[in-house]
Amino acid sequence: MNDHMIDLRSDTVTRPGHGMLAAMTEAEVGDDVWGDDPTIKRLQDALAERTGKEAGLFFPSGTQSNLAALMAHCARGDEYIVGQLAHTYKYEGGGAAVLGSIQPQPIENAPDGSLPLDKVAAAIKPIDDHFARTRLLALENTIGGKVLPVQYVTDATNLARKWGLATHLDGARVFNAAVASGQPVAELCAPFESISICFSKGLGAPVGSVLVGSKALIEVAHRWRKVLGGGMRQAGVLAAACHYALDHNVVRLAEDHENAAHLASALAQIEEVTVQSQATNMVFAQIPLEHCQQLEAWLKERGILTQMLYSSRFVTHMDVSRSDIDVFVAALKAYFCVPAFRK
Ligand SMILES: *Cc1c(COP(=O)(O)O)cnc(C)c1O
Repeated sequence: MNDHMIDLRSDTVTRPGHGMLAAMTEAEVGDDVWGDDPTIKRLQDALAERTGKEAGLFFPSGTQSNLAALMAHCARGDEYIVGQLAHTYKYEGGGAAVLGSIQPQPIENAPDGSLPLDKVAAAIKPIDDHFARTRLLALENTIGGKVLPVQYVTDATNLARKWGLATHLDGARVFNAAVASGQPVAELCAPFESISICFSKGLGAPVGSVLVGSKALIEVAHRWRKVLGGGMRQAGVLAAACHYALDHNVVRLAEDHENAAHLASALAQIEEVTVQSQATNMVFAQIPLEHCQQLEAWLKERGILTQMLYSSRFVTHMDVSRSDIDVFVAALKAYFCVPAFRK
């Protein structure tokens, strides 16, 4: 894939730039399974401080970080309440059930990404041998690019606590939520006992997630990380990239959000495209289904990568500029101008 492709498929596609690569090259490393990697320790401590938690733990992926957290909260035969659209439920291969023996209790997400509290309350099972033990409520912020309303998070986590449930946030993009809402990330994390944060999305690192929570919880997650094959050795080279991202790429997420808003308003001008939503760095739009495959190929020939489905998601990130977005929009318009492609 050449370097000039305009890639709107996801914010996971960013490449490390010179500054990040230099930080990786210079990282002081050690064997982290032995607890010897100072760069990893620094990153974990920085995240714990930034999120207002006691401890952090570095993972190779957000999937593993979420799974280790679920396994730290729930034992075999326990249950977690989660959204139908949540990454941990829908996009992680069913890991909680497959590897954790944890039963998911999915709930349909409301359009704003929240889980209606009456449905959450109704899903919490009485203590009875017939039922899995409901142990955890897991939310996601941002979800589908949307920032969960602060009051909703307060109410949902209060409900969880009232029923003795633990709380986990899949905060893969919690820094996008913080930047978009103007809330400190610690405020967004405060209602939760554990939060998983990705560095390989909009923050632009090649690899890495950090789980934060209490010392006791992180100790349990540390054991599960080893069991899941996530104990890494001189991974300080990776943690250095994440630390660089934390220092340099958080504030600039606002640019991605502005670019997504710009993209949404430009797409809204195209008759054949229906914009469904835009929030933070994501735009969801409907492209007539009969065009999706052909249009994807047309764009690819012009150096633009997209994934067109029933509802297409276009994601902005640090490797997509304002002018790249204009190039994309112009290409879409050009496509729909070809008489044979019009509806
Ligand atoms: C990307 C993502 C993850 C996990 O990501 P990995 O690809 O496993 O690093 C978890 N949750 C959400 C919401 C994500 O977007």
